[in-house]
Amino acid sequence: MADMENHLHDRLKALAQNLWWTWHPEVISLFTDIDPHLWRVVEHNPIAFLNRITPEQVEERASELVLHSRINHAFRRLNEYMEQERTWGSINCGNVNYRPVVYFSAEFGLHESLPIYSGGLGILAGDHLKSASDLGIPLIGIGLLYQQGYFNQRLNQNDLQEEDYVDLDLENLPLHPVLNEHGTQLTVRVDTRTTPIFARVWRLQVGRVRLLLLDTNVEANTLEDRSLTNRLYGGDTRVRIRQELLLGIGGARVLQALHIHPGVLHLNEGHSAFAILEEIRRTMEYDMIPFNRAMRRVSLYTVFTTHTPVAAGHDRFSPDLVEEHLGVFRERLGLSHDEFMALGRVNPNDAGEPFCMTVLALKGSRRANAVSAIHGTVSRLMWRGLWPNRPESEIPIGHITNGVHVLSWLAPQMYQLFETHLGSDWATRMVHPDVWEGVEKIHDGELWETHQFLKMRLIRFVRRRLRIQAERLGLKHILKDIDHVLDPDVLTIGCARRFAAYKRGDLVVSDLERLTKLIKDTKRPIQIIFAGKAHPNDDEGKRLLQKIANLSHDKKYTGSIVFVENYDYNVARHLVQGVDVWLNTPRRPLEACGTSGQKVVLNGGLNLSVLDGWWNEAFDGKNGFAIGHGGMHNDPEIQNKRDAEYLYSVLEDEVIPLYYKRDTSGIPTEWIRRMKHAMKTLGWRFNADRMVKDYACRFYLPAAGSTSAEWAG
Ligand SMILES: *Cc1c(COP(=O)(O)O)cnc(C)c1O
Repeated sequence: MADMENHLHDRLKALAQNLWWTWHPEVISLFTDIDPHLWRVVEHNPIAFLNRITPEQVEERASELVLHSRINHAFRRLNEYMEQERTWGSINCGNVNYRPVVYFSAEFGLHESLPIYSGGLGILAGDHLKSASDLGIPLIGIGLLYQQGYFNQRLNQNDLQEEDYVDLDLENLPLHPVLNEHGTQLTVRVDTRTTPIFARVWRLQVGRVRLLLLDTNVEANTLEDRSLTNRLYGGDTRVRIRQELLLGIGGARVLQALHIHPGVLHLNEGHSAFAILEEIRRTMEYDMIPFNRAMRRVSLYTVFTTHTPVAAGHDRFSPDLVEEHLGVFRERLGLSHDEFMALGRVNPNDAGEPFCMTVLALKGSRRANAVSAIHGTVSRLMWRGLWPNRPESEIPIGHITNGVHVLSWLAPQMYQLFETHLGSDWATRMVHPDVWEGVEKIHDGELWETHQFLKMRLIRFVRRRLRIQAERLGLKHILKDIDHVLDPDVLTIGCARRFAAYKRGDLVVSDLERLTKLIKDTKRPIQIIFAGKAHPNDDEGKRLLQKIANLSHDKKYTGSIVFVENYDYNVARHLVQGVDVWLNTPRRPLEACGTSGQKVVLNGGLNLSVLDGWWNEAFDGKNGFAIGHGGMHNDPEIQNKRDAEYLYSVLEDEVIPLYYKRDTSGIPTEWIRRMKHAMKTLGWRFNADRMVKDYACRFYLPAAGSTSAEWAG
């Protein structure tokens, strides 16, 4: 019996060690069925869960619930997945199969139990790894392990954001030390003019993809550097350049230590651009060729993805910081200080220009892309100074629009509907439009019932979270009414994103009188759920957040405007699966892509958004709602006023009437038609499988091919 007991516990442990479980609801339901309360207490961390429950308890619950076969089945499926030989990648990725793609990113958003991401960039990187795994593309991720991750957000008595930093418990994470040839944990070293930086290396298994993470909490480091990788985006520019030095150069050294030769170097944002330099150094020393030739060679297999049209989103470092941290390295490359600085300058001769990571990445990569069509246009304009003799259309920055990893964001109940109506192979064929035609086969009533179920789940989640917030802040009027916060029969708008000025999280409350009328309407009311963090140093973002939090605590809006603290993977999952409408109001054209609205579509919600980022190429007039017609104005005040007017009128004239137009059985037939139309027109395009296939066909294959051609020649 004891063997049997350990057997189930061990199998669950094995499942917990590979993040594959995060996109398989049938595995998650094993934990929730065994002990739903404990699952919540450990914040959805299966290793922490299993450390708190004995094999005997698992066995007992398994017998009660007949879980044996489900656990064994999940375990078998994981093994089959890991051993599968015929994949899209094995068939289509020729050259790449010999040498892996190495994907560098400063953050990876894989699950709430691994808080090493802050927002969209990280979630995108996580989704990229998951789809690369599903497609069977040989890819290795490189990132940093932040001991405290990004911060936890809490409101204080004045509705201002406060930041909590909590040390991760590494014992409870599926981290495996990467070993060197002596059998001890691999460490790498990067020299600076001052102290060298050491980092140890960990592995996370994301399905078939390995993610290697560096962390500086080792004794060889100075006290200061031991905490270098404590926080994501937490430090000043000196911390920042040291982190980026570690990510880029340290990351490339990890590959060398493991004898991994990258076929493609993919830099997800400029933070990791120093990796190019380490590749150049290795090439110079190995092939004994001069800097310029080595740089050309490395650029052939380097792909760079830029993520923001906002100037502050591009790291820039002073000559002093660059010399302190890369001086030693620069000498090995045989470059003078000015030659080195020129690599990060738009105008190489401008001694006043700081060193920009995006510039280095653009100069060092043959293939570069923005993350939506409109962002491509903006990026070409933004960086045309690097190619002064070319017309805008010939600036070599293309675009691949972001997508989301469908199985990570799709509600299990919606997944069941898709399994039934889209065909059992829909998940492996989701990039084909014909697959999504199956949505028409879903009965209106069934789709609506599923949506309402998910909406109720969201409402219960929000009430739980709000109760904690209200108890802490002593908001008696909210506690008194907590069971009436949000009404499942009321049109529910979700609005969650980072609070930053250009995202205009407050646009919808800019004419409070007009909004209040909509909220208080007795026949056709609306309610809004807000969430989002502000960067700790962004005072303007914090003020916006405070304004919203304030309203949510105003007696007048109890139950109809709510603010959910600590927007993260988990909050996002509940929101995108349960809202009717997803509101996005960036100041055009500053949204690079945005992906949260894509998650909403899969679950049957409709987008209401400014025509910016992905929505600019996605909206067809009937698959959601547009705010305005894509207009812009040099004066942000005027643009805000106009967009607010468009927002209120589309709400009043289109969104609200359509939602409340019901047939005799209370079903909003026309609304449902729009939900289905959105799924059909958007599902096949805005998913990460399509995105990763685009990267593979357009970038990875030619890049990997060009390296072999160069070597042959
Ligand atoms: C999807 C997601 C994002 C990115 O979405 P945007 O539309 O760019 O805001 C950010 N944060 C979290 C937690 C997400 O899940």
